[in-house]
Amino acid sequence: MQLALGIDIGGTSTKLALVDKTGRITARSSFSTADRTGEGDFFKHLFASMDELLAGDVQLAGIAAGAPSANEQEGTIENAANLPFSPKVEFVKTVRGRCGVPVQLVKDSNASSLGEWHFGAAKGMKNFMLLTLGTGLGCGIVANGQLLGGEFGHGGEAGHVCVQPNGRACGCGRFGCLETYVSATGLKRTVFDIMANFMEDSPLRSTSYEDMTARHIYEAALAGDFLAKKAFVQTGEVLGRALADMAAWFEPEAIVLSGGLAMAGDLLFEPTISSLERHALAFHKGAKIKVLASTLGENDAALLGAAALVWKSKT
Ligand SMILES: [Zn+2]
Repeated sequence: MQLALGIDIGGTSTKLALVDKTGRITARSSFSTADRTGEGDFFKHLFASMDELLAGDVQLAGIAAGAPSANEQEGTIENAANLPFSPKVEFVKTVRGRCGVPVQLVKDSNASSLGEWHFGAAKGMKNFMLLTLGTGLGCGIVANGQLLGGEFGHGGEAGHVCVQPNGRACGCGRFGCLETYVSATGLKRTVFDIMANFMEDSPLRSTSYEDMTARHIYEAALAGDFLAKKAFVQTGEVLGRALADMAAWFEPEAIVLSGGLAMAGDLLFEPTISSLERHALAFHKGAKIKVLASTLGENDAALLGAAALVWKSKT
């Protein structure tokens, strides 16, 4: 049986999976990216993991990887802030040289979008957006049945649209970007804003900024904590308004939310949907634009999307 090898390169770990045509994962492996000393050390571990997975009677149809800062046209990973790499890493050339099968590289957010599109919440849709709410905010856009790449491969950076002029400082150098409000880090920043503006007691007050995580806030909100619940409501308000704007641009059938923050479920989805409804253009009101949770495991969307790319290029 032919199998595709999907790779998901992240700042913390790199995951690999063998995937059949139906999106079933038949074997998987992973190793730490953060512990690598450079791309040489990274490729050594990558090839060792691949050799292990491909041992025996595996017919490999192709390899595709999703990575941050991927230059899809060149097959390189460039200036990746969270990877222990030189400014330019020849990913496709290096892997193809070793394996002799077709190798492709896509942006991580596009890999996740392909996963949701072929095997997940957006299966069969012609127009949808995926927002990955993790440490930052990643985005993939499928419009008129095609993944939007942009003229230079940097299209769809929804995390860096300005939602608050002169707002919070963003890692990109601008102020008020969506991801400074709607991400795990953004949620934490909101909690500290609320702490300063309200007097209510909260167990969150005894946790330092460095130690606090989105999970602490989520658990406090579940336990009924005023500050934590308010932080989710404010986050949903900002997100919903941004989704109404995105609907005005792209009119997607659905917007799929994935990543750690989306796992908060109703705590995030309810205020988001209510805000979207309030801010949407008249012809988008009435729950026309669906807001859906990813149906793929948090760790699997990019792996399956990369594999889908292999199968797509075979047809
Ligand atoms: Zn930004």
